[in-house]
Amino acid sequence: MKRIIESKTGLSNEVLIILIGSIHGNEKEGIRAIERTFQRLNNGNFEINGKIIGIAGNLKAIEAHKRFLDHDLNRCWTDEHIQQCLSNPNDLVNEDKELVELYHLINEVLSEDYKQKFVIDLHTTSADNGNFLVYPGKVDETTIAEKLGLPMITNLDDYLQGTTLLKYYSSEEVVSFAFEGGQIGSPKAIDIHTEGIWQLLQLSGIIAQTEAPKLLIDPKENLPSLLRVIHRHGVKVGDAFKMKGGFKSFQPIAKGELIAEDNNGEITAPKEGRIFMPLYQAAGDDGFFIVEEI
Ligand SMILES: [Zn+2]
Repeated sequence: MKRIIESKTGLSNEVLIILIGSIHGNEKEGIRAIERTFQRLNNGNFEINGKIIGIAGNLKAIEAHKRFLDHDLNRCWTDEHIQQCLSNPNDLVNEDKELVELYHLINEVLSEDYKQKFVIDLHTTSADNGNFLVYPGKVDETTIAEKLGLPMITNLDDYLQGTTLLKYYSSEEVVSFAFEGGQIGSPKAIDIHTEGIWQLLQLSGIIAQTEAPKLLIDPKENLPSLLRVIHRHGVKVGDAFKMKGGFKSFQPIAKGELIAEDNNGEITAPKEGRIFMPLYQAAGDDGFFIVEEI
């Protein structure tokens, strides 16, 4: 796997879109979707009003089919940690080497002169029903990502241990968000990512709007459009955390409902709300979240 999957540059400097796949090495659906997007662009006759670049995230973890090797590459994006890595280049664990490479590459691309800049980080989850956007910026009628019709979680980073890439790059000049395509390993997640990316290309104006967008999720599911996190259950190594079976993201839960078990016994919901990103894999330190509609 190469760091740059592919890149296409047109004549105008309207829009820059950076697509990132597999910052979690076991979530390969984003990379497949990026490859399909470039295939489609290469097979058609599209004028590119700017630049599109697809970047692979955690190369060593992708090879190993693991979320990460030494630490989570999507929880370490703070100025302090980056400076530490930059000043200690010969003594870095795997994810810190990846971090330094990504940092230099993304900064170089973002320094180019474009009127609108997007960083879109593609993920998949271990639970079913995981189609949503993690969107740290302000959401209003000008927000193109909202037009995908997916639930948007506004404040997830406030609850995570560590800082994500999308949060690090989110600024006045850069619209940065995570796009969760569905379940790890499912062909449907690749389809949803590919269709969602295509819609974003058209909505941003980097290619012309030539077709009506397809729905990414079934409106009958009646999912809320804007949500915020109100609780996180963190998991430590050795907790033996185990979710009860069958929870889907956004499923309503009652206060006191049994959610999971670990070495300390039963874990019940401290608040009423909707369950979000229940952990159904061994790796990861977020057991589950509770979200509520805004
Ligand atoms: Zn992920």
